[in-house]
Amino acid sequence: MSRVLVIGCGGVASVAIRKCCQVSEVFTELCIASRTKEKCDELAAKLEGKTETKITTAQVDADDVQQVINLINSYKPDLVMNIALPYQDLTIMDACLACGVNYMDTANYEPEDTDDPQWREIYNKRCEEKGFSAYFDYSWQWAYREKFEKAGLTALLGCGFDPGVTQAYCAYAKKHEFDTIDTIDILDCNGGDHGYPFATNFNPEVNLREVSAPGSYWEDGHWVEIPAMSIKREYDFDCVGEKDMYLLHHEEIESLALNIPEVKRIRFFMTFGQSYLTHMNCLENVGMLSTTPVNFEGQEIVPIKFLKALLPDPASLGPRTHGKTNIGCIFTGKKDGREKTYYIYNVCDHQECYREVESQAISYTTGVPAMCGAMMLLTGKWNTKGVHTVEEFDPDPFLEALDKYGLPRKENHAPVLVD
Ligand code: NDP
Repeated sequence: MSRVLVIGCGGVASVAIRKCCQVSEVFTELCIASRTKEKCDELAAKLEGKTETKITTAQVDADDVQQVINLINSYKPDLVMNIALPYQDLTIMDACLACGVNYMDTANYEPEDTDDPQWREIYNKRCEEKGFSAYFDYSWQWAYREKFEKAGLTALLGCGFDPGVTQAYCAYAKKHEFDTIDTIDILDCNGGDHGYPFATNFNPEVNLREVSAPGSYWEDGHWVEIPAMSIKREYDFDCVGEKDMYLLHHEEIESLALNIPEVKRIRFFMTFGQSYLTHMNCLENVGMLSTTPVNFEGQEIVPIKFLKALLPDPASLGPRTHGKTNIGCIFTGKKDGREKTYYIYNVCDHQECYREVESQAISYTTGVPAMCGAMMLLTGKWNTKGVHTVEEFDPDPFLEALDKYGLPRKENHAPVLVD
């Protein structure tokens, strides 16, 4: 028996909500709240009569802490699932603290306005101290650790696939396969084709900011930053085939470096086709990825927001995307004094996802772990108080839930390594 408040009703949230509704014995009551209430009502109407879960909807601007507090106080949930955007992480965490409710999200905080001088000052200092320049990092949310601990509450950060499942794979490798892990390569391959010359698979603003930023990896206790897309490898992915992949900065590297301290190197690679990269470079070169407002014929326009309005809605890609994703982690390390390697990953089919939940695999591979993470918190399987990332919890019940609810793991004990 539980009451859950889901904030956001976009691509990922829609999958998470549909999956929650498949497990009504855990998710007895759901409130779907978002900036645009019509989207929540539309989804609730689609689910009517198809689930035992009792669904209500609400309007909320989650940038406004007081609005979230009012909603939490009126709905009284056991858990708030923040599946809006990373911009809302801190306001929703503040509201959860004020109301004494557990919190979870799927991506770590980044500000919407990266020109804000107050934020810039802290950001510049962090770039210098840590050595990576991504706009997002864990420091903002880790600053809430003591507050959540003292309040006896849990905040689960980044419970999608990557971040999320990739960290559970690391915790699993550490628990069952290795005494010490030497290297981790996280490989995120999307072999799907949606037929458009250019589209992003999830929120374009978040996606393009992530991909156009410098890459970085963790090596021998410090960050190594490289120009965007300057390290390329080829890999032959199970069920997908050979793909080009590029080294990116990714948020879970930061928490894994902290929580698996013996690791000598952690890298993250994502596959991109040439058409995607050519479009992205061109858009960047002409300033369309900028978050700084420009005045156009008397109106202020943020270029990347305007671009978002022009691009296909990620939610509309579902019916036209064919092919598979393959996301997982390759490890090297030692067990009982012997060197070993290990690869754990999931393969997901875009069309199968669409048939099940009317969404492509990118939203599916994020929404299912969000539901499974919520289930871990609601059933008390994960109950450590404070602010934590996925690798800090027992991976076994979570991976079992993923196996059962649509993202089964595959293993390879002699994988080809990435050079
Ligand atoms: P979408 O843009 O599809 O959806 C975002 C939703 O949040 C929309 O419903 C939007 O409402 C709502 N929203 C935005 N601002 C506010 C606000 N101020 N108040 C209330 N609601 C708001 O994004 P996605 O579903 O693609 O992504 C959701 C999250 O998942 C993001 O944080 C993303 O970074 C993360 N993600 C994580 C991955 C992982 O593997 N860990 C992978 C992919 C995504 P409206 O309809 O009005 O715009």
